Amino acid sequence: MALIVQKYGGSSVADAEGILRVAKRIVDTRRAGNEVVVAVSAMGDTTDELLDLADKVAPVPAPRELDMLLSSGERISMALLAMAIHSMGFEARSFTGSQAGMITDAKHGAARIVDVTPVRLREALDEGAIVIVAGFQGFNRDTRDITTLGRGGSDTTAVALAAALGAEVCEIYSDVDGIYTADPRVVPHAHKMDRISSEEMLELAANGAKVLYIRAVEFARRHGVLIHARSSFSSNQGTLVINESLSEKLKAEGDPMEEPIVAGVATDLSHAKITIVGIPDVPGKAADIFTIVAKAGANVDMIVQNVSAAKTGLADISFTLPMADASLAINALIASQEEVGFESLQHDDGIGKLSVVGAGMRTNAGVSAKLFEALSNAGINIEMISTSEIRISVVVRADKLAEAARVVHTAYGLDDEAEAAVHGGTGR
Ligand code: ADP
Ligand code: ASP
Ligand code: MG
Repeated sequence: MALIVQKYGGSSVADAEGILRVAKRIVDTRRAGNEVVVAVSAMGDTTDELLDLADKVAPVPAPRELDMLLSSGERISMALLAMAIHSMGFEARSFTGSQAGMITDAKHGAARIVDVTPVRLREALDEGAIVIVAGFQGFNRDTRDITTLGRGGSDTTAVALAAALGAEVCEIYSDVDGIYTADPRVVPHAHKMDRISSEEMLELAANGAKVLYIRAVEFARRHGVLIHARSSFSSNQGTLVINESLSEKLKAEGDPMEEPIVAGVATDLSHAKITIVGIPDVPGKAADIFTIVAKAGANVDMIVQNVSAAKTGLADISFTLPMADASLAINALIASQEEVGFESLQHDDGIGKLSVVGAGMRTNAGVSAKLFEALSNAGINIEMISTSEIRISVVVRADKLAEAARVVHTAYGLDDEAEAAVHGGTGR
């Protein structure tokens, strides 16, 4: 008997009809002779709605209470899903993150899983039940409090369960048929991939492709979990996320795995840009600035420093960071303005980041030239550039990001003839 872990995202369980559709799928998997463990997200946009609600009662909610609030979303869907399965004549038992043994560190809102002790899940499986686990939440042993794993964290719950229970596969269900060469909501002619390497998936996820949560991909890579990303709205085969050892094995078996130079394009509208104007062009200033920003708890992404005009001896530094971190960084920088000695500071939240990802970039020249040419032909201005071994990212105006993604997708020959099917969800 194989053990299969399935994760259903918010868009798959958005309403009663969705819960019943998912329940039927789970029952079918059980009927086929498998043990089934399910990680489920909160219904539809519940988590966003709970956050809006918290915002109305407290500008800066206490992190412990926010986790108590947000974790309730998944409790609703897990119980409803178990009830729906009962109504179809099957035994199902739901468990909160702490009941499921999802042990995390104490960092509210972004907790990391440190251990999984699925004793109760194993017992329930041995008694023939289908197991439903609330995604996105855990428990810290020292504080004895409930934690949440960060937005999109139910994917990590599923992968961690798959690793702890030795599942054959971790199926992650959403509202699209798999992993595409770009977000199909942004690039309608995006192409569904049969497979993607975990290395490339990590870069796409880190740069805005929320179809899989980055920490889940990391966890799967480290623990050798096979992820199958697919849609709960169709029975189409989705996309397999293949780690290095599996890829080597398939190659040794003579599998002709396609290896395009560019795997895909990711877009990200969640960052802002801060420019510090008129910094004395002397050693140590960049160190001062980024120490202040780091101490404020902000995560810097891209950095650009312009050359100082010889006559003024002053330079400018621009950097990008998650919008949510911007006010922390700005307040800290303003407080140290005199000490650092810069003239002024600008904040810009109208930027978008476009990233092109592909393992083939390591060995192929001219990949970035094609990106710049495509943007230039479309009259789109590039404000910042950064590269890694297998990625090139550019910052453009936010209102040009979708167009930029489409022209770049076409330039790399990634377009599919047909339009991708996006089944549900609001894309929020
Ligand atoms: P869920 O609610 O099931 O967790 P998400 O909304 O988190 O689903 O993820 C699915 C969404 O991810 C899709 O609707 C799509 O808009 C977006 N997405 C972004 N990049 C990609 C990509 N490369 N391939 C597929 N979907 C993508
Ligand atoms: N409900 C949480 C969120 O919206 C976790 C998840 O869906 O993965 O981020
Ligand atoms: Mg998700």
